[in-house]
Amino acid sequence: MLTQKQIDDVVAFHGHHCPGLTFGMRIGDWVFREFGRAEDEEIVAVVETDMCSVDAIQFLTGCTFGKGNFIFLDYGKNAYSFFRRSDGKNVRLVTRGGLLYHLREEQNQLAKDDFEERKKIRQKMIEKILSADFEEIFAISPAQIPMPETAKIHTSIRCEQCGEMAMSTRIETVNGKLFCIPCRKKIEISS
Ligand SMILES: [Zn+2]
Ligand SMILES: [Zn+2]
Repeated sequence: MLTQKQIDDVVAFHGHHCPGLTFGMRIGDWVFREFGRAEDEEIVAVVETDMCSVDAIQFLTGCTFGKGNFIFLDYGKNAYSFFRRSDGKNVRLVTRGGLLYHLREEQNQLAKDDFEERKKIRQKMIEKILSADFEEIFAISPAQIPMPETAKIHTSIRCEQCGEMAMSTRIETVNGKLFCIPCRKKIEISS
């Protein structure tokens, strides 16, 4: 289970305490126990949302955007896959969604400016997420995609339009001239 210090640290990292972050805490805690922690790239996360939950996951699992072992797919789903490089162990966790149903109904009955009651309901949601059985919150299945490749370091090339350096894999040649992505987009728009 999460310690109060872990909860406090995640909240400090994220900036506020919210139900979304709490879902992420449960995931991060579970993955840490099932997969270990990624000091380097041992564990890879592939998340299908960019909501609050992913901050808790980065903080608790050591899978971070900057290390390249935290991959975002913009699908708008509360789905999270994890892979362990050493043995290929993998999982996909999907939020079931029913857990907060009654509290959300209650929340919908409240006036928009009833901040006091809204705050109480959010607190109830957080407590419910913290205390529920893991499998009541998440459906657990094998990952549906292959393990992502390790993050590679690429050389940089200068864009001939803006003069800025960009990773070679993000440079494209148009009419014999090297373009970075934003510069290429600009010529697409103007042509
Ligand atoms: Zn939040
Ligand atoms: Zn450019």
